[in-house]
This record gives sequence, structure tokens and C-alpha cells, in this order.
Amino acid sequence: MAKRDFYEILGVSKGADDKEIKKAYRKIAMKYHPDRNPDDKAAEEKFKEAAEAYEVLSNADKRAKYDRFGHAGVGGNAGHGFGGGSMNMEDIFSQFGDIFGDSGFDSFFGGGGGGRGGRRQARGQKGSNLRIKVALTLEEISKGVKKKIKVKKQVECKTCGGNGAKDANSVSTCSTCRGSGIVRQVKNTFLGQMQTTVSCPTCSGSGQMVTANCGSCKGEGRKYEEETLELDIPAGVDESLQMSVRGKGNAGAKGGPAGDLILKFEEKPHEHLQRDGANLIYELYLNFADAALGTSVEVPTIGGRVKIKVPPGTQAGKMFRLQGKGLPAVQGYGKGDQMIHVNIWTPKKLSSREKELLEEMKTLANFDPSPGKSEKGFFDKMKDYFN
Ligand SMILES: [Zn+2]
Ligand SMILES: [Zn+2]
Repeated sequence: MAKRDFYEILGVSKGADDKEIKKAYRKIAMKYHPDRNPDDKAAEEKFKEAAEAYEVLSNADKRAKYDRFGHAGVGGNAGHGFGGGSMNMEDIFSQFGDIFGDSGFDSFFGGGGGGRGGRRQARGQKGSNLRIKVALTLEEISKGVKKKIKVKKQVECKTCGGNGAKDANSVSTCSTCRGSGIVRQVKNTFLGQMQTTVSCPTCSGSGQMVTANCGSCKGEGRKYEEETLELDIPAGVDESLQMSVRGKGNAGAKGGPAGDLILKFEEKPHEHLQRDGANLIYELYLNFADAALGTSVEVPTIGGRVKIKVPPGTQAGKMFRLQGKGLPAVQGYGKGDQMIHVNIWTPKKLSSREKELLEEMKTLANFDPSPGKSEKGFFDKMKDYFN
């Protein structure tokens, strides 16, 4: 059978511009799309015919050759065309991405893709998420850190490039979905019959059937390998947080998209500081004499040691605040504070000389406890701290 003229197939004139050609093709593709004409061979032929015409006429170079030499100019002899298999369904569908755009494409099919972004990404089976725990010091948390972490994960097989096939000859178009990777399902819902598209069960959405498996990955398209991940961890993270990095998880089967990498954080205990949200707490131990006389002490902070003044008459339980010496918020502005909680050290063992001194001291007038308004109780102090 002689091939029909490409302009005639699309119903446009020889002088039609790109826009007219696209528009004409879009109309025909919608009308004869296999999803709308299940098991209609004639419609499928028309659909393929139009796709081939569009393939040539939408390409300036191919179109010029076609205009000069006809079908022969674009490799067209009797063997060419879909009977000869020069353009399969996969090619046609990937063409759609350009015509309808990824979002427009989904809505064209009734939005039944179940959240998939266009048919071009629908190949193969999605990889699983990879969860890893990263242990961080408070210093790392305070500044953010770049970490290199070795993990064993599924990566795309380099031998076959992920499709799982031994070579190009061992791949054929899936007969169940005709290469589209999806099949249509009709469901009865309270709104009436709804059509949805699901991943093809025969080829798991790859659109292809593999007749001989890649020896390296046994046809899976992926393999376990050790990989070094470079992680950019922002400042201020904590153990309640989960961060995911799209597409850095396990590789998909048979060329499917990779899963996500999900990071959890573990805080390594700090030698001196405890964390409370964005604030850091330091327990300061003073001896009774220093608390009574006043002194200055060095305390550790995340950014090094800082000298603070302890005024005379400092009570146990007092909180000093070093503003801005805490941790940054993971999102947003500002930093927490470092709180210094005063403890008065009571000696656990006493020599006879020490006992003697204390016995003498406790009879002195100012050593009698007489808490006033300024010595707030524990609960008031906690209220202050949290406000
Ligand atoms: Zn392979
Ligand atoms: Zn299939």
C-alpha cells in the first residue's frame, strides 16, 4: 500500500507553520488515541500514521528533505513506517511530552495517572527510600556541616544502563500495554464509572519486554553498591527532624526513578552542654565561698570558653543567660541562648579543721537563711527561663 502524504494525513496545507501542524496533530492524536479507542485496530493505525507524519513535519530538517524527495527523503520505502518498526509507541508517547507538556498531558487523559508527572517519567518501578541516621556533634549542629557517608545502596546497573536487558536486540515492546507502560482500568465509584490508568502489570510500567537479561544485574537494572553520599546538613537540626533528598535513594527497577534519601539525626552527647531546643544549658558548680564572695569563672560554650562574673551573694539555682550563644533555628532567624545554671557544691567529706571552721561560721548572724522576694523559688525560676 502506498504511503499517504504527510500533509494530507494531518489535514494541513504544504505551507502550514509549526503551530498549525502541532494543532492538527494534537487533534488527531486525541481522537485516535488507543486509550480512547481500546482494541480498535483502525484507530491505532491512524494514530501511528499521524505520529509519523508529525515526527517528520515538526522537524525542519526532516520536513525539508520530505518536501524535496518525498517519503524516500526521510528513509521512507516500503519497509519504513510502523510496520517496519521505525517508531514505536514509546517514541510516540515521548513525543507527547513536547506537544501537551507534562501537566497538560495528564489532564488530557482525565488526570488518571495517580499523581504521576507525565508518561515520560512512568518507566519501570520506583526505587525504595533509603533511610540513614547521621550522628552529629553539637558543634556540627551549630554551624551546619558537609558530611561524606558511605552507604550500601541500589544503584543503576552500568552494564545495561538500567533497563535490565542483555543488549539492544533483547528488548521488545510490551504487548499488554503496547509500550505505553500503563493500562486503563474502569472503576465503579459513587460518582459513576471512573477511568484510571495504572502501571502495566506485565512490564511493571517499563513498556518493554526483555527477552534476555543483563548478566551483570540479572535483569533487575540495578545493583547493590557502596556509594559515598555527600550530605549538606543545615545548622540547627535536631533528632525530631527528618530531611529528605529527592532521588537519592535506591535506584528503581528496570530504569524506574530512584527513591528518596531520608535523613534522621542523632545527637552525640556533649562533654559539657545539654541541649534544650535552640538553647544550651551548662551546669555550673560553685563552692559556697565563691558564691558568697563573688568570683569570675570561665564556662564552656559552643564557640569556645567565655568568662562570666558571678556577683557576691549568688544563690544556688540562679540562671545566667548568655544571649545568642545557643543554636540557630533550622529554618528562620536568630539563635538560642546559653543558660548557665548555678549549683552550690556542698562538700561530701570534711576534715576536722574544716568541720571546726563550719561550726564557727554557722553561728554567725548572716549565715541564717532569710530568703526574700528576690530569691524566687524553683518554679518561678523555671517560668522565667521558659519565657
Ligand atoms: Zn544490568
Ligand atoms: Zn506493559
